[in-house]
Amino acid sequence: MSDPISANHVVGIHYTLRDDKKEVLDSSEGQDPLLYLHGHSQIVPGLENALAGKKVGEKLSVSITPADGYGEYDPKLTSVVERNQFPNQAQLEVGALFEFSNAKGHPVVVRVAELKGDSVTVDANHPLAGQNLHFEVEIVSLRAATQSELEHGHAHDGDGHHH
Ligand code: ZN
Repeated sequence: MSDPISANHVVGIHYTLRDDKKEVLDSSEGQDPLLYLHGHSQIVPGLENALAGKKVGEKLSVSITPADGYGEYDPKLTSVVERNQFPNQAQLEVGALFEFSNAKGHPVVVRVAELKGDSVTVDANHPLAGQNLHFEVEIVSLRAATQSELEHGHAHDGDGHHH
């Protein structure tokens, strides 16, 4: 397909993500390309906007501010909880991820930021909040989304379903 990328298409990309110090944070190298459904906020807004209108085979370098990436770091998203609130206390360590339900019953992933006695500081900011993101991207595939992908709002692999 040589059409440009637009909403409701499944796009395959290879990418490398670096921070301001050029450290690699994430990459699809050595793995299958990342498939995402364009126009459904599956990837950060700055990258999705940069990919719109591009074609298979194109490569691009995109630098994204936190506002168009994983958001600004919000100190209000940290809180201190008692150690005994954790189901798996053995796994309590700085950097560990836990899923909690918020007041509305939605799952929220928090990262353990500090351990002090019986107090655990957890941080619900995305680990990359507040960071500039520098992507190197190559577009490797493009196809129309299937009906079930449109209903689910995300891309499916050819051979099945990852949820
Ligand atoms: Zn699905």
